[in-house]
Amino acid sequence: YWISESIKDRLFEDIYELGNDLGRGATCRVNKCEHIGTRQCLAAKIIPKKVKKKIVKTEIGILLKLNHPNVVRLKEVYETHDEIILVLELVTGGELFDRIVTQGHYSEKDAAKAIKDVLTAVAYLHDNGVVHRDLKPENILYEDLTENSALKIADFGLSQIIGPDVMMHTVCGTPGYCAPEILKGQKYTKSIDVWSIGVITYILLSGYEPFFDNNERVMYKRIMKGDYNFESELWEDVSENAKDLIRKMLTIDSKKRITAAQALNHPWVRGTATKGVHME
Ligand code: ADP
Ligand code: MG
Repeated sequence: YWISESIKDRLFEDIYELGNDLGRGATCRVNKCEHIGTRQCLAAKIIPKKVKKKIVKTEIGILLKLNHPNVVRLKEVYETHDEIILVLELVTGGELFDRIVTQGHYSEKDAAKAIKDVLTAVAYLHDNGVVHRDLKPENILYEDLTENSALKIADFGLSQIIGPDVMMHTVCGTPGYCAPEILKGQKYTKSIDVWSIGVITYILLSGYEPFFDNNERVMYKRIMKGDYNFESELWEDVSENAKDLIRKMLTIDSKKRITAAQALNHPWVRGTATKGVHME
């Protein structure tokens, strides 16, 4: 049984002191914890076992294999009779979501820097056959509270390893960031993550969601039609390069959608963007 190797037979409580709340997700809670021996501070993601075992196993397997500066590192796994505890690298800068709420929206320079970190992490995941599937500003965390802090991708609860020809077929976590092919019930691939990054880029630059509608059904229809625009005056001063990348990420046809690796080479991400110049 491949997971048992990673599960410690010691008790979590013997090794760590549980600290205050860091956050909560749909399926878990995350607390600060301190290694009693070394006083190192880490994060403990506590998942109740009533959550489908399959999801948890996949999450553990994926996280243990990953090692990248823009991906939250999994250090250890503990198991109690009713919980699984993932000991994660502690990040202290808070969620991308909270900084967007505080700042309203980002300058192009700051947005490009943030999106570069996200694309770097996602290109790494995709290279390793991992699709995140739930990319949104709540799952993208700042390493620390400094202004120049790097971003790290967290929460692989919905992701899974795909083989070269294996397509995935599950429902999307959060509608606003969900690719049209998922809503249409079509088969989908890692390109769904790029769509989500397109939505995140749009939000970073404007402060609002591209497909938002109070009526969820209307929102779904807008996503499936790719019905968004740059008409708000908020977009007047945004470079053509930024809009060009968003268009390429929010492309309905997933086969024509830009890949994470290609997007990393886009002039807007590389910081070579010139305002008003259209790059093809
Ligand atoms: P879920 O799978 O339930 O969505 P997440 O992994 O997204 O759980 O964690 C929920 C929240 O906990 C995150 O949005 C974040 O605020 C916080 N969090 C998660 N991992 C860490 C970490 N390594 N360090 C600090 N805070 C974290
Ligand atoms: Mg989450």
